[in-house]
Amino acid sequence: MPETTAHPADAVLTAGLCWLYETEQPADAHAQHHGEMLAADGNRTYSFVPVGARKLPVVVVDVARVEWIDNGPNELKTPANPLEPGELEALAAELERRGFPVDGTWNGHPGITGSVGLRRPAHPSQVAAVERYHRGCQDHPARSVFCDCEVWRAGFRRTHPTPAP
Ligand SMILES: [Zn+2]
Repeated sequence: MPETTAHPADAVLTAGLCWLYETEQPADAHAQHHGEMLAADGNRTYSFVPVGARKLPVVVVDVARVEWIDNGPNELKTPANPLEPGELEALAAELERRGFPVDGTWNGHPGITGSVGLRRPAHPSQVAAVERYHRGCQDHPARSVFCDCEVWRAGFRRTHPTPAP
């Protein structure tokens, strides 16, 4: 086996990609479009979004706890601990190495969030669960996705979460 340097979020990426591509959601579950977020070492979170931009999956890396620099009155605060230069590109390269072709990246250094778009659609049941979410509560159409009835809430509980990394 060739020697490679593991990505710092190796285990989290394995868990998140398994969820996106191999986890089957029940036919009566619905899931928010934000996907699943996992905490990683180094003050990072990784989110796995089944249906993001272009209706394809997106992997998002965020600084978990941002420290802000106060630049004085009337000036925007800037992050003291943004994503590292090259960090988003390294994530995209790691996803490609794992066999998930990348469509593009957004944001990254010097920001506090970065996104990688993937070409391969998520598991069809993941896409279907998000579509059921967007249709909203079928018993109370006026309340849509904001319904709080038991039937609607039970649909969220039936989704299968990310496996623990
Ligand atoms: Zn309802």
